[in-house]
Amino acid sequence: MTQTVLETKNLKKIYNYQTENEFEALHDINFQVQEGEFIAVMGPSGSGKSTFINNISTIDIYTGGHVYINAKEVRTMSSNEIGRFRYQNLGFIFQDFNLLDTHTMYENIAMPLSLAHVKKEEIEKRVNELAKQMDIDWLLKKYPYECSGGQRQRAAICRALVNKPKIIVADEPTGNLDSKNSSELMKILEDLNHNNGVTIVMVTHDPLIASYSSRLIFIRDGNIESEIVKGEMTQDEYFQKIVEINSAESRELITQ
Ligand code: ADP
Repeated sequence: MTQTVLETKNLKKIYNYQTENEFEALHDINFQVQEGEFIAVMGPSGSGKSTFINNISTIDIYTGGHVYINAKEVRTMSSNEIGRFRYQNLGFIFQDFNLLDTHTMYENIAMPLSLAHVKKEEIEKRVNELAKQMDIDWLLKKYPYECSGGQRQRAAICRALVNKPKIIVADEPTGNLDSKNSSELMKILEDLNHNNGVTIVMVTHDPLIASYSSRLIFIRDGNIESEIVKGEMTQDEYFQKIVEINSAESRELITQ
């Protein structure tokens, strides 16, 4: 039996709530993710992808409805609880890596564990192990600005994995990478998903990157408009379907 790890019920996000600039970015979204799924989120720019991913991962707090992560409702948690909950459950990868230039690569990777007051020896062991796997162990004393984009993204992946998260949330993780580094990152995510059962929710605008997922949702104007399940399709067949849905959506936008 698979388990629901993430669920939204009538998820609504209104920016500038109760001001004259109110803007409803998400309209009553109902959505479920089962353990071990790899979800890609696509949609035109401004459709609500980042808002959606931020609101299902504790980064932002929704205006209405419910979000449950591992059956725990996000809005009922205090900020301390959210911090602990993130450390126990979630790993984040962002397009611009979000590494701190004032900290070494080691300190950046260690951050989720340092914030959770994990013992120094345990942190050292975990950071060194991961950095070695990602082939950046020789860069740990350097600062992010001394490293290449690919190296920084690998450090960001180490930071996302250092707490052994059950769910990885990624917003355009390949947005700043060349094709070689992008496909390396996708192999890492695929491996974590297939072999370690890590659940992944990833925003991307690239059909090839999306074709690594097991299910795709397409967001438009703050709603989930359509969905494709990879099922028995090959990656190539799935990729073709993703291209089709993107071009059909683009055509609709043009003729609107
Ligand atoms: P996407 O990730 O699909 O490009 P976003 O989730 O960033 O879309 O934005 C969805 C909509 O919400 C857009 O119309 C955007 O202008 C609006 N929006 C996003 N963030 C804010 C904010 N902090 N304040 C007001 N409006 C916002």
